[in-house]
Amino acid sequence: LGYPAPPLGYPMRPVAAPAAPLATLDARAISAWFGSRKVLDRVSLTMQPGRVTALIGPSGCGKSTFLRILNRMHELVPSAQLAGEVLLDGADIYDTGRRITDARRQIGMVFQKPNPFPTMSIYDNVVAGLKLTGLKVRRSEKDALVEECLIKAGLWREVSDRLRSPGGALSGGQQQRLCIARSLAIRPRVLLMDEPCSALDPTSTRVIEETIAELAAEVTIVIVTHNMQQAHRVSQQCAFFLAEHGTPGAIVESGETEQMFGSPVDRRTSDYVNGRF
Ligand code: ADP
Ligand code: MG
Repeated sequence: LGYPAPPLGYPMRPVAAPAAPLATLDARAISAWFGSRKVLDRVSLTMQPGRVTALIGPSGCGKSTFLRILNRMHELVPSAQLAGEVLLDGADIYDTGRRITDARRQIGMVFQKPNPFPTMSIYDNVVAGLKLTGLKVRRSEKDALVEECLIKAGLWREVSDRLRSPGGALSGGQQQRLCIARSLAIRPRVLLMDEPCSALDPTSTRVIEETIAELAAEVTIVIVTHNMQQAHRVSQQCAFFLAEHGTPGAIVESGETEQMFGSPVDRRTSDYVNGRF
């Protein structure tokens, strides 16, 4: 009586503290080819811990390719070649002797089109995030993990009473948050998101942006987006990619988001962020 009501969405149980400290991901002189065609040219970018980095630029300039290189998905394409280094806290994820699953267990990925397993339950979709990387969790810890991931993905309140219903029955925005929850099951240190809101309505987009802002406190986030307002809203640092006149994609300018949007150094950056091409 007389006290304000607790805010909606207040988690019923505190979320466990992150297991590992925040990670720095450092791409150094990344060049990439598909067959003989070079699509990235000496891209260097440091993605700082606890911050959101936005990758922006026109279609075809290599943003998705760069993102996939950051968790070794690139090498799954048979024609793909790579030069350069990707350092996770100083250690190259491509070092010979390091297995691909090492990178996958620390670096999660969310794609443009929400892709939960449609007939699998919400609960099992989250647990599947572990299985995809070959990790296991004790039966007794599963419930807590599922709850933790769904809370962090901003979905718990909406689905806690129907964890056994199929993932495919959720709305598009909820499906994308389920995919975020699935990617969090490994407790990743870095989360890569390739246009995660492009297939969603504005309301779902805002909900996911809020989720990203909260996650950034414990996961280093890299997001590709075509939405300049979104890049401005969610990121603290930004890199502008361009592939001019058939040349391979490269970073024209990178830096603090406020600076990139407020007073970009390169004319092409200013044209792009202001929607002039
Ligand atoms: P963006 O995400 O910025 O739109 P992409 O990274 O998807 O750009 O593509 C960069 C270039 O690499 C494009 O010219 C694209 O056609 C080419 N590319 C992407 N994936 C492949 C692939 N698997 N095989 C051959 N070429 C590809
Ligand atoms: Mg892309």
